[in-house]
Amino acid sequence: MDGIRIIEGGLSSKRDKDLSHETQNGKAQDLNLFDLYEQDIKEIQAQAEPTQAMTDADAAPSMIDTEANAQLEEIKLPAPHRRWAWVEIDREAIRHNLLAIRKRIGPGIKIMAIVKADAYGHGAIEVARQALLSGAEFLGVANVDEGIELRQAGIEAPILILTETPQQSIPLVLRYKLIPTITTMEYALALGEQADAAGQSAAYHLKIDTGMNRIGVHYSDAADFLRTISFHRGLDLQGVFTHFSTADESDSYEFKLQLERFNRALDEIRYMGINPGLVHAANSAAAIRYKQTHFDMVRIGLAMYGLHPSRMTRDLIDLRPAMSVRARITYVKSVPVGEGVGYNYTYRSPGSVLIATIPIGYGDGLSRALSNRMDVMFKGRLCPQVGTICMDMTMFEIDQRSSQLNPRLAADVGDEVLVVGREGGIELTLDNMAEQLGTINYELACRFGLRLQRLLK
Ligand SMILES: *Cc1c(COP(=O)(O)O)cnc(C)c1O
Repeated sequence: MDGIRIIEGGLSSKRDKDLSHETQNGKAQDLNLFDLYEQDIKEIQAQAEPTQAMTDADAAPSMIDTEANAQLEEIKLPAPHRRWAWVEIDREAIRHNLLAIRKRIGPGIKIMAIVKADAYGHGAIEVARQALLSGAEFLGVANVDEGIELRQAGIEAPILILTETPQQSIPLVLRYKLIPTITTMEYALALGEQADAAGQSAAYHLKIDTGMNRIGVHYSDAADFLRTISFHRGLDLQGVFTHFSTADESDSYEFKLQLERFNRALDEIRYMGINPGLVHAANSAAAIRYKQTHFDMVRIGLAMYGLHPSRMTRDLIDLRPAMSVRARITYVKSVPVGEGVGYNYTYRSPGSVLIATIPIGYGDGLSRALSNRMDVMFKGRLCPQVGTICMDMTMFEIDQRSSQLNPRLAADVGDEVLVVGREGGIELTLDNMAEQLGTINYELACRFGLRLQRLLK
């Protein structure tokens, strides 16, 4: 490892020397950079030989030093001290949003908090706990692993997996007392058989497809489907649900049709003498907009995180975004007029600016497609992001011309920068970013949660 580091140092210092020679003499054309490069390669090869000769046995101890790893484990630094870019989650906002939902839907209707995809990037365990403290009684996840993660954190509330799981995972479903969704007869029978063999009766919800055409038993077959399996000792129907395709759009014929089909299927199920258990249909948009979709329970994802499913809900409920994305400046410099910044010089300095670098990039969810098209907030002022967004770094411009209205801003390494969030009445929203990118806030929240550490407030 040492060998490699020395070579890198040698290489860059040699480059610096040659380049400074270039600027001093002002004769760049005399220097053949490609020859230089080949010379560098030869040097690297010459120096790298001892490293290449290193055996696996030599390398192993330094690569896997378990004692050192154990010590590292113990250093529990909060996210902003490990890396100067992080996601902040405001648990009070999650509480506020669930209370706003409760106020909107009224009493007597259960709330299922949807915490799939690591709670839309907000952190499943913490969000689930906060949701259960704020009036939610049920949790919803997308797969077995997400359910197990909550159980292993000691969460005991009922957890619905919103889809069927692979049949191989049924033992886990039963062991962790997760409630699977049933959409096919094959899965129903496999679940019933295994539960029965274990002396259990497996709780499940039936998903009815009322027009989304994604998953679910066709609405006209639902009652027959249930009648076929209702005899089964190993199966315990605890709920029936559907999902709307267009609840976030302006009043549509399709939405009403889905609701009508769901009601018809429910009538048929009850007519056969089958108790459907908990009936639910509404996601955030439907729950906020349509009382007739509430039934026994609403499934709330996006709104709990303080985001609006569409313009249609903005005036109906007061939501507070729980996620903000923050960073600290890692480098700041003035760049002379005309000089390019970042990959491919997609921006050139207009002069009288500072260029500040923050350690967040498209690898963290800050889409490269936003390059030169977004602002960040620095000391209460919007500053344009400039240059191509890199995988791990992003640059922005701080105007150094001062006026009476905008006195010159000083910038130092370590100063905080807001990438998403609100400060002093100005908002940098996932909604705006999503609109720029032709996607939805859901996707952006998920992506910011994938790599950045989270700081809980
Ligand atoms: C994700 C999901 C929800 C939550 O939707 P939001 O729009 O985030 O409230 C509800 N129901 C199902 C079946 C889902 O997959």
